[in-house]
Amino acid sequence: MAQEDLFRKLIAHSKEYGFIFPSSEIYDGLGAVYDYGPYGVELKNKIRKYWWDAMVTMHENIVGLDAAIFMHPDVWKASGHVTAFNDPLIDNRDSKKRYRADSLIEEYLEKLSAKIDKEVEKGRKRFGEAFDEKMFRETNPRVLAQREKFDEIHLRYVQAAEKEDLKELRQIILDCEIADPVSGSRNWTEVRKFNLMFETRLGSVSEDASSIYLRPETAQGIFVNFLNVQKSARMKIPFGIAQSGKAFRNEIVARQFIFRMREFEQMEMQFFVRPGDEMHWYNIWKERRMKWHRNIVNHPERFRFHEHDKLAHYANAAFDIEYEFPIGFKEVEGIHSRTDFDLTRHQEYSGKKLQYFDTESRESYVPYVVETSIGLDRTFLLILSDAYAEEKAPSAEGEMEDRTVLKIHPVLAPVKLAVLPLVRKDGLPEIARKIMDRVRFDFNCQYDEKDSIGRRYRRQDAIGTPFCVTVDHQTTVDQTVTLRDRDTMQQDRIPIERIRELLAEKISFRTLLERI
Ligand code: ATP
Repeated sequence: MAQEDLFRKLIAHSKEYGFIFPSSEIYDGLGAVYDYGPYGVELKNKIRKYWWDAMVTMHENIVGLDAAIFMHPDVWKASGHVTAFNDPLIDNRDSKKRYRADSLIEEYLEKLSAKIDKEVEKGRKRFGEAFDEKMFRETNPRVLAQREKFDEIHLRYVQAAEKEDLKELRQIILDCEIADPVSGSRNWTEVRKFNLMFETRLGSVSEDASSIYLRPETAQGIFVNFLNVQKSARMKIPFGIAQSGKAFRNEIVARQFIFRMREFEQMEMQFFVRPGDEMHWYNIWKERRMKWHRNIVNHPERFRFHEHDKLAHYANAAFDIEYEFPIGFKEVEGIHSRTDFDLTRHQEYSGKKLQYFDTESRESYVPYVVETSIGLDRTFLLILSDAYAEEKAPSAEGEMEDRTVLKIHPVLAPVKLAVLPLVRKDGLPEIARKIMDRVRFDFNCQYDEKDSIGRRYRRQDAIGTPFCVTVDHQTTVDQTVTLRDRDTMQQDRIPIERIRELLAEKISFRTLLERI
């Protein structure tokens, strides 16, 4: 299936099966804002729990926090967001579409890099076993020409981004003849800076009201509470503070479903370390976070690390964990070494000391910080992209038919178990109801008696329910039911009393957490 088709199907499936709806849809929606439906909210909560347990519950030296969205306006001056949280914006005069100038150049570089890989693949096919990839990359004239072009543009781009040279960004777009991806036009405006923070007013009377911002990241709530948490929870360095919650960014381009939203959720952890130890912890967290991701998907090979070309104003090293979405390799999580930038700036702006007294070395210092910052909504999209499959499945009559299935890990699945009476008579619904009454304390389960059993299986496949039990006439005789597995579609006969025990392990967070 073409990747654009897959992306379109994911969006349609999410809406039809109650995962994600456009916000305020009856008013034609609101750009890049989405609502989570009945199954979406379940999946989202479970992803959050998987993260929280892996970070907070499994680490004695990481504790949680839930800071407010509104913060004192000086927080954002200190953090640098008022002056530096900008994206370079460019408009196309013909199509009237707006783009991020940096994204246009990065996409161009991606394409050049893909061309080089294509040449290499051609070479591999031509030379067969004798193929020496390193030599080919170093000597093939077509590869060398593309590489030279790539390096030249890449260097110009990195330098322009570092200096925030907007004229040069535009010049690169012109020199590379980058066209509007929608209209093909090259009629570009100047590049302008655009601050991504939403501003609002706090206070009831407009004269007294002061301007404040909706937080663009959750991290600052952690920094300003650093000493409150350290002292009250008696934390010793190295230690972490974790938080999940809403963040807001007035994104310039927001055409990628829940990949880029204007209101979204982050799950962030700031790890405070002794100055000088940051690269050690940075490498540890990089690996741990990758393991966490690969642990919950069917396609672990779709992840890769990507080192930042252009560092944020607070970082001295940064890696992204990228996933191959249907829209290409994209960031889901950033691992950043933030130095002592934030705490030092908050000391300066607030006039309060934010230092830690190290009882071992008997010295006070401002700790360094390693951050892991992951988007909850992007992880949600990742799980959906990874899980969505269209396949053939045998119908009740034994013929092959199409099924769309979400192969979400059973621990994360919104509904764990569907209880289905084969027919709506002969006492079968009553038995099924009794089973529901027993298991609802343990799992999120669903009762369904409408339509043929085949159609009911298809509905459960579509929302990713890993197990279905069917109550049939044999149940009335020997108290057994069939247990159907979503992925293998195998059906086993099991006694009713064993349902809870058989499912408990498969849907326990423990099975996931033990493997990280
Ligand atoms: P991008 O380059 O894609 O704009 P970023 O580098 O600005 O992302 P960070 O500031 O590092 O992102 O934020 C950490 C994480 O928060 C990202 O890895 C992503 O998962 C999530 N995130 C950031 N912006 C958005 C958004 N607009 N919508 C959804 N998730 C987001």
